[in-house]
Amino acid sequence: MAGREVIVLEAEAGIGEHTSSRNSEVIHAGLYYPKGSLKARFCVEGKHLLYDYCAERGIAHQRIGKIIVATADDEIPAVRSYVEKANANGVTDLRWLGIEELRELEPEVRCVAGFLSPSTGIIDSHGLMLAFQGDAENHGASIVFHSPVERGAVTGDGIELAVGGAEPMNLLCNTVVNSAGLFAPEVARKLVGLPAAHVPPQYFAKAHYYSLTGRSPFHRLVYPVATHAHLGVHVTLDLAGQARFGPDVEWIDGVDYTFDYSREPLFYEAIRRYYPGLKDGALSPAYTGIRPKISGPKEPAADFRIDGPRQHGVPGLVNLFGIESPGLTASLAIGRYVSAMLT
Ligand SMILES: Cc1cc2nc3c(=O)[nH]c(=O)nc-3n(C[C@H](O)[C@H](O)[C@H](O)COP(=O)(O)OP(=O)(O)OC[C@H]3O[C@@H](n4cnc5c(N)ncnc54)[C@H](O)[C@@H]3O)c2cc1C
Repeated sequence: MAGREVIVLEAEAGIGEHTSSRNSEVIHAGLYYPKGSLKARFCVEGKHLLYDYCAERGIAHQRIGKIIVATADDEIPAVRSYVEKANANGVTDLRWLGIEELRELEPEVRCVAGFLSPSTGIIDSHGLMLAFQGDAENHGASIVFHSPVERGAVTGDGIELAVGGAEPMNLLCNTVVNSAGLFAPEVARKLVGLPAAHVPPQYFAKAHYYSLTGRSPFHRLVYPVATHAHLGVHVTLDLAGQARFGPDVEWIDGVDYTFDYSREPLFYEAIRRYYPGLKDGALSPAYTGIRPKISGPKEPAADFRIDGPRQHGVPGLVNLFGIESPGLTASLAIGRYVSAMLT
């Protein structure tokens, strides 16, 4: 609508077949991310935009809330540090809960302290993607499936992309937004003319989810204290009210969604720390997802990395790297930011 002819080149047969379909579907409040990071900024901004967008477009969601709990006294400082981080990020609606109140809210959860994040929610991520797709198409964009970008080159006239698939073609573009998720560093590496120093390393961290068979004993999301690089195996609920547990972290070499059933005992152990009522045999394997990481297993989690011409010097190119959680929550804020970089 701004006078650009926009094409979305999608390698797969449909939208969102990778990370956007394989996540926790949580609208995050913005509690965990370092102050001043893009993750903190876009999560908080994106959450407000997303709730408004869901209401406007009729996308299924619920502002269900979550409790963050310490299961032992030595975890209390970590729980307190989340509250401080959240306050620094402008999330000021958190509420410490007394042990009686915790028991009343979530009788099945065993913990020694906790707080409530009322602005955390859940969303139908497929409904969200369909709304994004519809909006793009209604505003004149074409979404072309089975169209993998295989390589490209920066030329004097723009960026030329070689697109494979059933009908290979070359496209000369004024502007390219590389939002290829897990494959974004790979796509960037194949752009001749983009200096290699501007492409981060690519790592993959797999996540497994288990569903709880039967009725959920939980009324909201329950997060134990996070450990390095992930949030711990927590409870999320889907919009039908079914509870699921996850995600864990397994560093892998490539994109492979195979479910590793041998992780089950680890799940039982981790979940029973805060849900001792979990019965043997109650977990069933659900699905896996893969985090598009740009920092390795022994490094601190990297921030979102959104590089435009100011960073790498190539006119018209924006690369989005490491768009892991809270990327779904942040999506509208990320879109605004990228759009501003290009106008
Ligand atoms: C385990 C897990 C849990 C998460 N939980 C949450 C959560 O609860 N809340 C939250 O806010 N965020 C969460 N996230 C993060 C969120 O899911 C992602 O940030 C978001 O989905 C990323 O979207 P994307 O469009 O960048 O990537 P994707 O959805 O992966 O889309 C990238 C697209 O690019 C296409 N593509 C790749 N290579 C090419 C190519 N060469 N040519 C053409 N197309 C190509 C792919 O087919 C794909 O469709 C989670 C992520 C993970 C992994």
